[in-house]
Amino acid sequence: MERPVGDLLTPQHNALIAAKMKEHAKNGCPLCHGESWTIASDRVLVLAERPTPGLITSAPVVFIPVVPVVCNTCSFQMHFNAIALGVMDKEGQMTHG
Ligand SMILES: [Zn+2]
Repeated sequence: MERPVGDLLTPQHNALIAAKMKEHAKNGCPLCHGESWTIASDRVLVLAERPTPGLITSAPVVFIPVVPVVCNTCSFQMHFNAIALGVMDKEGQMTHG
């Protein structure tokens, strides 16, 4: 079964993420000070609010779109908010990078 491609990161998105890392991670990884990073997914992922067990509700679940980036030395992982980063708009559509 083929995976959907709607939330795939483009080379332009990857360049934007690399630029953010270069601009803001001047001291390297906050744990080991390593300076080598990998974008850990080829698409935007989501953090989701955990539903209350046993509670049936029509309230919307909160999703936060993120791009995970992993330190190649110690495996510490951070998440960029995909909307604030500019790879996704507030309606959940991918930008063109
Ligand atoms: Zn590290």
